[in-house]
Amino acid sequence: MKIGILSRNQLLYSTNRLVEAAQERGHEVRVIDPLLCYMNITSHHPSVNYKGEPLEGYNAIIPRIGASITFYGTAVVRQFEMMGTYSVNESVAITRSRDKLRSVQLLARKGIGLPVTGFAHSTKYTNDLIKLVGGAPLVIKMLEGTQGIGVVLAETNNAAESVIEAFRGLKTNILVQEFIREAGAKDIRCLVVGNKVVASMMRTGKEGEFRSNLHRGGTSQPIRITPEERSTALRSAKIMGLNVAGVDILRSNHGPVVMEVNSSPGLDGIEKASKKDVAGMIIEFIEKNARQGKTSTRGRG
Ligand code: ADP
Repeated sequence: MKIGILSRNQLLYSTNRLVEAAQERGHEVRVIDPLLCYMNITSHHPSVNYKGEPLEGYNAIIPRIGASITFYGTAVVRQFEMMGTYSVNESVAITRSRDKLRSVQLLARKGIGLPVTGFAHSTKYTNDLIKLVGGAPLVIKMLEGTQGIGVVLAETNNAAESVIEAFRGLKTNILVQEFIREAGAKDIRCLVVGNKVVASMMRTGKEGEFRSNLHRGGTSQPIRITPEERSTALRSAKIMGLNVAGVDILRSNHGPVVMEVNSSPGLDGIEKASKKDVAGMIIEFIEKNARQGKTSTRGRG
C-alpha cells in the first residue's frame, strides 16, 4: 500500500515509528507536512498538491495533526477524504476531540463517567457556577490547552473564583471541574486501535504535582486495566468516531472517569511502558480496513 503520514516532523518518535512499522510490512510510506499542502478546493477532481506536484495514489493517510494546527490540518484531511482516500482518523472526529467542551458533552450524552464539569461564558454568576459543580477543590482548564498547560487546581472557592475571573478576563474559554483527589495524581492512558485497547499505562505526576502528564515530569509504568476501564475507553473512542485514540481515565470513587480522548496519541511513552508494537498495530489496522472511498463522511462534516 501507499501510505501518507500527515506530520510536521519526520524526526518525532511517533512519526518515525509509524514509518518504520509501515516499511517493515512492505508498504511505501511518505511523511507529508500538512502545512505545506495546498489545494484547489473547488475542483470537481479534488486533489492535494505538495512541493509542486499532486499527491496521487495514496491508499491511506495517518493524520498526526498537532493541536496548534488543527484548523488547517483537518482541512487537508478533509480534502483527502473528498478524494476518497481512507484516513485512519477522519477530520470530523479529530475536530470533535480537539474541543474539550464538545467532547465532554458528547461523552455525557452517552452516559460515559466524567468528573462533574461546568462551563460559563460570563463571570457574573461565577459563585453559582462553583456551587453547581460542588465547590472547591476544583480543577480549572483552558479549553484549548494540551500537555497539562492551562490546567490549574484551586483548593478554595476564593481561589477558584480568582482563577476563573483571571482566565475570563483574558477572554480564555475554560471548563470548571470536580477535582478527583482520590486519583492520587495518577491517570491511565488506554491506547485504542479499532475495537481493542492494545496497550495501557499508568502515569504518575512528579512530587507535589497533581497533573500526571509526561510533559510535566510525570513517569509511566505498565498497568492492568479493569474490564470497566476497558469498555469505557472503547466506548469513548467510538463516540468520538476515532479508530486510533488515546483515552485518559482517572480512577475515582464513582468509577472510571474520562479526562480526554486524544486523536494523535504519542507512541513513545506507551510503547516503552507496555513494550507493545503500537505503531505496527496501527499499520495492521489500516491493512485490514483501508479501502478507496471508505470514509464515513467523504469530507462532509
Ligand atoms: P491536557 O489535555 O492539557 O493534558 P488534562 O485535562 O488531561 O489536560 O489534564 C492534565 C492532567 O491533570 C491529567 O492527566 C490529570 O492527571 C490531571 N487532572 C485533570 N483534571 C483533573 C481532575 N478533574 N481531577 C484530578 N486530576 C485532574
